[in-house]
Amino acid sequence: THFGYQTVDVEQKQHKVADVFHSVAAKYDLMNDVMSMGIHRLWKRFTIEMSGVRPGHKVLDLAGGTGDLAMKFADKVGASGQVILADINASMLNVGRDKLIDRGYGGRIEFAQVNAESLPFADNTFDVITIGFGLRNVTDKEKALASMQRVLKPGGRLLVLEFSKPELPLLSKAYDFYSFNLLPKMGKLLVNDSDSYQYLAESIRMHPDQETLKSMMLAAGFDEVDYQNMTGGIVALHRGFKF
Ligand code: SAM
Repeated sequence: THFGYQTVDVEQKQHKVADVFHSVAAKYDLMNDVMSMGIHRLWKRFTIEMSGVRPGHKVLDLAGGTGDLAMKFADKVGASGQVILADINASMLNVGRDKLIDRGYGGRIEFAQVNAESLPFADNTFDVITIGFGLRNVTDKEKALASMQRVLKPGGRLLVLEFSKPELPLLSKAYDFYSFNLLPKMGKLLVNDSDSYQYLAESIRMHPDQETLKSMMLAAGFDEVDYQNMTGGIVALHRGFKF
């Protein structure tokens, strides 16, 4: 694409992503905690803080998986608000639904099986949209961003929480070693699935860096796009408004 990152065979990528998330769904939460040493909780908490969510808001947690962000939003929007947990993958949605019901969120969060590239919602629907560790799995990211821009209300904001590019070369080296050597081994050891964690490492390396993603969001029509690095840029939170 003109943003200069690698393109892959579209169908092949979609199948791979579907396989990976069907395969990791049952152990997804456990692996998240282990692999990030619990830090993903802080990244998510910060995302909620930056979302500006208020009682009565309509929130879309896209690529929401097992619902960590959706639950936090449900606590914030109150009875007059609405939270939709949307994901393309039925296995992830099922695990998410069971967990949310167990924790007393049944009835407070709606579920939708959707593709981020073609969101089945009316224009100007949501006050807040989040996509947490999801965008890098989406094949046509430009199309997905345009779709999010369309369904966001004027005055609303999009938060993209995603792995990004570490700021310091030394951190970058250590992180590469961690992702390409330790991660697949941990995947093998803990859930007997090194392939999925190999995919994870590769998808992180191929994902657009901070400035590239910012340009993509501007190109999709978002205004005042900025980002904040977390954990040395291993993760970045991009924010864009619709005016
Ligand atoms: N947001 C959750 C979190 O932060 O824990 C889950 C993130 S998980 C790493 C990525 C999710 O993106 C998976 O549940 C996957 O099914 C979903 N996904 C991948 N491609 C998608 C697409 N095109 N549309 C919607 N969801 C997608």
